[in-house]
Amino acid sequence: MKNPFRRAPRHVPCIEIVELVTDYLEGTLPDAERRALEHHLGDCEDCSSYLEQMRETRRIAGALGPEDVPDHDGLMAAFRAYQAERADE
Ligand SMILES: [Zn+2]
Repeated sequence: MKNPFRRAPRHVPCIEIVELVTDYLEGTLPDAERRALEHHLGDCEDCSSYLEQMRETRRIAGALGPEDVPDHDGLMAAFRAYQAERADE
């Protein structure tokens, strides 16, 4: 006997989205996965705001250039400097 609950439409769990976001922003995500991710973002606010955070973080890091952001500490320092700058406005 088939369990009707196992026939739910395919749903990508949030944890998988988080793992795909970097590739998505780099444009290296295959089409099928990109579509699944965008579909998930359409009705998942948590992942949408996570994507926006990642996009913003990468924008800040990109403005500094990859050589200036050798590690996580450097990135966090840049992020704090950016926040401090915005606080002055
Ligand atoms: Zn999600």
